[in-house]
Formats: sequence, C-alpha cells, structure tokens
Amino acid sequence: MLTFSDHWLDQARHVPSPNHDRRPDPADISLIVVHSISLPPGEFGGPWIDRFFTNCLDPAAHPFFAEVAAMRVSSHFLIDRDGELTQYVPCDRRAWHAGRSCWRDRSECNDFSVGIELEGEDQTPYTASQYRILAQLVHSLRRAYPRIAADAVTGHCDIAPGRKTDPGPAFDWKALEQAMEERHS
Ligand SMILES: [Zn+2]
Repeated sequence: MLTFSDHWLDQARHVPSPNHDRRPDPADISLIVVHSISLPPGEFGGPWIDRFFTNCLDPAAHPFFAEVAAMRVSSHFLIDRDGELTQYVPCDRRAWHAGRSCWRDRSECNDFSVGIELEGEDQTPYTASQYRILAQLVHSLRRAYPRIAADAVTGHCDIAPGRKTDPGPAFDWKALEQAMEERHS
C-alpha cells in the first residue's frame, strides 16, 4: 500500500527538483500523464535523470546532454527499470512535464495533471515491475486525489500528438489494465 504525506509518497526516494510552480487551481488534480525517458537516449541506469530534473546534468558528460542540459523540466514521479520509485515534485505543485498539450478540450495539462516517467524508450518493452508499480501508483493517486477519474490516464503522445511520441508503441495499455486488476486479486 502506497501512502502520501503532504503530497510526497512515503515509499518513494525523494529527490526534490526546483522545477515546479503553483497550480492555477491546486485542488484540481484530475489527470495522470505517462511518459518515458532515458538518458542518454536508449541507455538505462545511471544518475542522469535525477541530475536532469535537478538542473545538474553535466553538458560535457555526453553529446546529447549538451542539447538538453539547459532545459528546465521535471516530473512528479519516475519508475526505473527495476520498479524503483522516485518523486521529484510534490503532487500539489505543478511539475513541468507535458508542455503544450491538450486533453479532452483542456489545454495546458501541467496545470491539472500528475506526470509519471517510466525509464524506457518508445520501442523497448517496459518491464513487468514497471507495470506493477505503475498500477499501484495510479491506484494510490486516485485514492489521494479523487478527481482523477478511472479513465483519466493518458500518454504524453496522446495529449501532444505530432510533437511527442512517448511512452510509444512499446507501452502496453492492456498490461497496465491487467496489472490494475491483479492488484485487486
Ligand atoms: Zn513525455
């Protein structure tokens, strides 16, 4: 069972990011956005995602890092390949993960969503641990923030089509559904 204290998940590793601000309506937390990230692209492990979300990525450490090191972005959560959970931004604050986006006629999804990054990339199957932990996290978020409806879980590619492709064709929505059901059994 996952629990929250002051909008921080008790069971997650906490790596506070400075990249957040006030939600226009702090009570409106009604959408979950699933992303994927890997740094450098296609490689898993290492300290790079933590450093990226805390503005400490060394641009000299990899050619790709030089391109992205100056970006100021964040997500509420990361689930790594082993299913380990990290939280960067408390849920009542607006993390900077979705960018220009639109969900069911509402734009600026950062305003009202929780961002969850899966360590991965579009074409590589996600791990069973990631689906299991994601299902637990979605369930716990919906319990803590009841405005998140059962069907209010979407992919970054779905709210920013043409601009974003994550979590990509490798993300298996049926596997998430199944993991949500198994959680009950
Ligand atoms: Zn994304």
